[in-house]
This record gives sequence, structure tokens and C-alpha cells, in this order.
Amino acid sequence: MVKKQLIILDRDGIINELVDPYVRSVDELELIEDVPQALNLLLKYNFKISICSNQRGVSRGLLSLDTLYEIERRIITVADIEHHDIAFYYCTHDISDSCNCRKPKPGLLCQAINDVGCYASEALFIGDSISDCKSAQSIGVDFNLILTGHGKLTAQQPLGDSQIFVSLMACVRNIITTNFP
Ligand SMILES: [Zn+2]
Repeated sequence: MVKKQLIILDRDGIINELVDPYVRSVDELELIEDVPQALNLLLKYNFKISICSNQRGVSRGLLSLDTLYEIERRIITVADIEHHDIAFYYCTHDISDSCNCRKPKPGLLCQAINDVGCYASEALFIGDSISDCKSAQSIGVDFNLILTGHGKLTAQQPLGDSQIFVSLMACVRNIITTNFP
């Protein structure tokens, strides 16, 4: 196995609880249990962390970019980490924009990988939906499914050789034991 440098995470359903249709304000933001601990554990082991998230609610006028960044700052604060420790990437386009960044397209992941300067094989994407899985597999990035968010439904679909974990913390513990045997 190639040693991982970059851990990429989906946001909704992995970092925070899902809100239908979108988290539209900081008041609606609720971090999933043990997520702050999991993020801090990754940082302690010097992994780079990026969050790649589809947020088409922006182009649909359901939330502003300012609010999106406010939610980002709240995640950082609640997780008790430094803002420069996590890079955030968003696709704010709508489906009809046919952009290259909306997952399952790999554009957001490519940006994260390029910014860290590692190989795709040195990155791991953690998500809860089939579009996350496809986005990773299309550029040769390993994918881990978490059973939070849409994860339990997604687990019923073909996921190739992706590993499945009950929680982000369980996944992070596995990342650490496989990268630091
Ligand atoms: Zn896009």
C-alpha cells in the first residue's frame, strides 16, 4: 500500500449531520460525534486534510458564499483546530452548469491533490455517497465509505475495493495503523 499524505473528506454526512436540503446557516450546523477528535488525530500524525464539498445551494440562491465561509469557520472553531490546517474546496455550480468540479467529477479532488503536491495514490477520499466514490475512483484515489450521512444506503451499491467504516474515527484509526505499522 502506498503511504498516504493527504486525507480528503466530504463535508455533509461526514463532518456534519445532513440537513435537508442543505445546511443553510451556522445554526443548522451540527458536527457528527467524535469528528473533532478524528480530525485532530489526523493532524497529530501530520496528514494534510482537505474538505471537498458540492454546495449547489449557492448557485440556487439558498445560501450565500459568506454563509458558506461562516459555516466553514464554525467547523474549525468547534473542531478546535487552526484554519490553515484544513483546506476547503467547494463546487458552488448547479448541475446545469456542467462544470468539472461537481462530484462525481474529480475536479475538486484534483485541486486538493495539486495544492498538496502529492500523487493521487498518496491521497485517500472519505465520503458517504456514490458520487464521492466515483469521483475518487475516476482519478485512482482510494475511497473509504463511512456509514454516517447517506453511507448506509450507499453501502448497498457496488463500490469496488473501497473499505467501509462505521464512523470517521474508526476510519482514522485504520488509516493510522496502516500508515504507521
Ligand atoms: Zn463545479
